[in-house]
Amino acid sequence: KGSKFRIPIPDHLQLVLNACNEDNPGKNADYIPELRDADSNKLGVAVSTVDGYLYTAGDVDIEFSIQSISKAFVYALAIEEHGLEYVLTRVGVEPSGEAFNELSLEQDTCRPLNPMINAGAITTHTLIGKKDTTYEERAEMVRKGLSKFAGRELTVDENVYDSEMKHAFRNLAIANMLRNYNVFDLDPKKVVEGYTRQCAVNVTAKDLAVMAAVLANSGVQPVTGERVVRPETVRQTLSVMMTCGMYDGAGDWVTQIGFPAKSGVAGGIIGALPGQVGIATFSPKLDKHGNSLRGVRICKRLSDDMGLHIMHQP
Ligand code: GLN
Repeated sequence: KGSKFRIPIPDHLQLVLNACNEDNPGKNADYIPELRDADSNKLGVAVSTVDGYLYTAGDVDIEFSIQSISKAFVYALAIEEHGLEYVLTRVGVEPSGEAFNELSLEQDTCRPLNPMINAGAITTHTLIGKKDTTYEERAEMVRKGLSKFAGRELTVDENVYDSEMKHAFRNLAIANMLRNYNVFDLDPKKVVEGYTRQCAVNVTAKDLAVMAAVLANSGVQPVTGERVVRPETVRQTLSVMMTCGMYDGAGDWVTQIGFPAKSGVAGGIIGALPGQVGIATFSPKLDKHGNSLRGVRICKRLSDDMGLHIMHQP
């Protein structure tokens, strides 16, 4: 385990990092102290190949909360558990063009538009486990599921969790809206607690690169060799990441960078190139969509340099 890792820092990644670090615009998420006070100078990039080689530069061992990046993996876990057909009856796949925390539902079906915005992700969270699964068990199943992708035991940042719950008014509003439209029939507050624990799981840029590499490797963990999810599940997950992963910045992202990705409010971004690599960046300051600003820059640069745009024809 892990022995397949070679971690020399190739000059290229360091070069990209330096090029993207000339200034540091944007702003930390400021709705909880843990994110507001996070060191915004930190910057890291990690690339994991589908055969388990890891290349890194910068701050790749710092733990931060996974936040919305978890939405992609938990969506995959939900499909794995219930099948795509059922999951589609509960959460749609249309880009919302709205902010990630918009209170919105699809008009005719009353489904959340997609699993990458909070309304969809809170619903996806409820799909983990069986009818009699307790809220606490569900949160634990999610943590374990995310750990399988990472190939190590991930932990919950209890401070982030506590702070998030003190400021979860908007997610509580979303969960109450979902309950009102019978998207689920669970206790909205308990559901938000579980979803918030999901968002508070700690990861490093290294973890995220490997987790993304599972998606790039059609569902097999490149280091442990374990199949985490099926290829059909990965296809669905990457497709939704492609169209909805970067929120209302999705159009710019797809045209300019052009690979499936997901961002989180703590400053992480993952990208996955099917059959090739998982990419992760970490930089806390965000742009107006809530995507890590220097992270987007790094991904753009990697996409250009390595021809990673999926529409790129040499
Ligand atoms: N915990 C945050 C929320 O649900 C995650 C949002 C994000 O990463 N964009 O509001």
